[in-house]
Amino acid sequence: MTAQQERVLVTGAGGFIGHHLTSYLKQRGYWVRGVDLKHPEYAPTDADEFVVADLRRWDATLEATRGVTEVYNLAANMGGIGFIESNKAVIMHDNVLINVHMLEAARQNQVRRFLYTSSACIYPGYRQNSPDVVPLKEADAYPADPEDGYGWEKLFSERQCRHYREDHGLQTRVVRFHNIFGPLGTYDGGREKSPAAICRKVALAQDGDAIEVWGDGHQTRSYCYIDDCVQGIFRLMRSDFHEPLNLGQDRLISINELVDMVAGIAGKRVVKRHNLSAPQGVRGRNSDNSLLRQTLQWEPEISLEEGLRRTYEWIAAQVRPGARATTAEASAPRAGAPA
Ligand code: NAD
Repeated sequence: MTAQQERVLVTGAGGFIGHHLTSYLKQRGYWVRGVDLKHPEYAPTDADEFVVADLRRWDATLEATRGVTEVYNLAANMGGIGFIESNKAVIMHDNVLINVHMLEAARQNQVRRFLYTSSACIYPGYRQNSPDVVPLKEADAYPADPEDGYGWEKLFSERQCRHYREDHGLQTRVVRFHNIFGPLGTYDGGREKSPAAICRKVALAQDGDAIEVWGDGHQTRSYCYIDDCVQGIFRLMRSDFHEPLNLGQDRLISINELVDMVAGIAGKRVVKRHNLSAPQGVRGRNSDNSLLRQTLQWEPEISLEEGLRRTYEWIAAQVRPGARATTAEASAPRAGAPA
């Protein structure tokens, strides 16, 4: 079967990565069914068919997986650190239901390949206690001590993918994202992650204003631009590799440096007001890309500066007065969400 005829499913197609992935797959000639609780918020979908459905429900997953050969399963109840630290029960409840039902429905409908989007949040807390963190290799996941709630569910679903491959022959792929960012992602409302939150706050600030930064700002992360992310997802799906694989950049940067970079792009001076009681997640987290390079003969290429420039421009245009109805909270500077 050629790529032109292949029918694939993207769940979470109304969300940030799923929306971009749908466009990418369409550009490559696939017929795409998108499923989500909601339509994409910032741009129309490119999907051939878009179904609004709740994938916690067994009947919805059975319907969604009918007549497709491949599934990109991105649907999840998720958000930045502020959201995942205060919604553990509902996150585990919703995401376990989505993923156990999606895997079983894919099996029953004889789907050939199933890609699951896991997260760097599965890595143990005891390896992420310092801003100067050793980059995380895939094998570092065990002994397990993931992010409470969200990370435990991701680790459980990674294992369930493995068991479906071993016991039922479903070809599963598991990708562990490290902080994906870019245009058309959530930037307000409480679920946004640190790059989007910082871009929004800088865009709303006047030259010389103070903006709130969660924690002391010395916590570190690495960030990967969305175009690299969708390309990595596709390369992994097409590969024969079935173990979990990191997908991210391996350039470590502190939140303070990230704020300075965004302020530089905006051409504004901002004063950082650190909120030490806000959630900030692990102290440091970086991706070890050795296995990624070896497996896909590729790694993310778009620089943080370039990715942030594109993201800042999009968010600044969104929050410009009259551009788009934003939430009431978005019009006043407020806490951001370091991932
Ligand atoms: P997102 O929140 O923008 O997209 C997730 C989508 O899933 C949303 O549109 C949401 O409506 C949908 N969804 C939630 N519950 C659903 C349900 N019951 N039925 C149908 N749809 C439902 O998030 P994203 O950043 O695009 O993330 C996509 C995937 O990647 C998620 O699985 C997430 O956990 C994972 N991930 C993302 C990052 C990141 O940095 N963005 C990092 C690690 C992992």
